Amino acid sequence: MKGLRTGDRQLIRDLNMSIVISAVRRHGPIPRVDIARMTTLGRSTVSELTALLLKEGFIREIGSQEPGEKRRALGRRPVLLEFNPKARFVVGVKLAPRMVSAALTDLEADILDTAELPIDEKAGEKAVRQQVSRAIREVMSRAGAGAEKVVGVGVAMPGIVDNRTGVSISPRFFLWQNLPLKHLLEDEFGIPVFIDNDANAAALGEKWRGRGREVENMVLVTVGIGIGGGIIINNQLYRGFAAGAGEVGHITINEDGPECSCGNRGCLEAMASDGAMEREMRRLVATGATTSVLGMAAGEPARITRAMIVQAAKAGDTAAIEVLRTAGQHIGVGLASIVNILNPELIVVAGEAAQEAGDLLLQPIRETIARRSMSVLAQRVEVVTSALGDNIWVTGAAALVLQDFFGVPIYERGQPVAAVSLPEIVQGT
Ligand SMILES: [Zn+2]
Repeated sequence: MKGLRTGDRQLIRDLNMSIVISAVRRHGPIPRVDIARMTTLGRSTVSELTALLLKEGFIREIGSQEPGEKRRALGRRPVLLEFNPKARFVVGVKLAPRMVSAALTDLEADILDTAELPIDEKAGEKAVRQQVSRAIREVMSRAGAGAEKVVGVGVAMPGIVDNRTGVSISPRFFLWQNLPLKHLLEDEFGIPVFIDNDANAAALGEKWRGRGREVENMVLVTVGIGIGGGIIINNQLYRGFAAGAGEVGHITINEDGPECSCGNRGCLEAMASDGAMEREMRRLVATGATTSVLGMAAGEPARITRAMIVQAAKAGDTAAIEVLRTAGQHIGVGLASIVNILNPELIVVAGEAAQEAGDLLLQPIRETIARRSMSVLAQRVEVVTSALGDNIWVTGAAALVLQDFFGVPIYERGQPVAAVSLPEIVQGT
């Protein structure tokens, strides 16, 4: 656990601290003797570490076990320890093309307060960063949380992000390249900052607080302005060699398809994102299809939005339902390959379109996966919408911090560079 590290504390100490606090969090209320047994740490080590955690408020004593439990036979009733998620705060930030959202959460990523500020993605790095800082400051000051009370700030943002160096390499909607956002924010706030691609963060959020809690292998795909993805393998986010893994939106669906923002043709994103659905709706209108969507757009096809299509489809509009079905089939084609390659247990389809359209989008996805991936694998994968709704982004951003806070640190050349979740031996029940 990094919050208590001062200077060059040893890896083994960090590791043991992570193990103890995770055991209390997962299995508490729990007596010290059970922590020692479960973690195979020595009793004196457990006493020493729990004393430190108690002093910092991360855990608390809650009296003893009830009479009648088997420990009573031993003649003493040990004090139980439980995790205190309110001991510190976390700030989760979602950076989108037109808005920055910040949430203050507790140490379980439970949202306590939020702030949203408009941004202009074309306004340049300084102006965008100013709004990000304002949003962070706003949720911290409203809760009276000074820097010492915040264990970290997580930032989820579009594009390719190197989570180790905290550099936004290629942010897609924004104008900068290779912006060292982590260091800039750390200098400003004096708090550890963690930055990752937004879909990666969303996958982690779903793993921490959503449908992914009980699964070890899952894929999350976000459908919206773009299409993104996050891959969890053996409880860990899979980032790939150069932090670019999970770009589900740029799988080729149609070799001769429409041009994509990445320069390729016929990517999933070019075939099933908001823009693609709007284009398909306009095509149907142009071929004379009757649809209530045209009325919603005041008779102007150029004003058709994905939100209108979803709204019409839910009211039974045949053409709008067809647009969602086509998009769902394209997404299903992409996901069928992923099912064959990764054999996930769960696929979460997130983003506003999926959240609102529900089965109108998910059912064609499920049918296509069932038809196009290896049947043994297809039978075993569940396809669902997110349990977190609109909160998925800021929850995911907070989870970037918590993954590090509760994780086992990975050291390279004596410096901590990343964290991985604890193995199941401690996390399992
Ligand atoms: Zn592409």
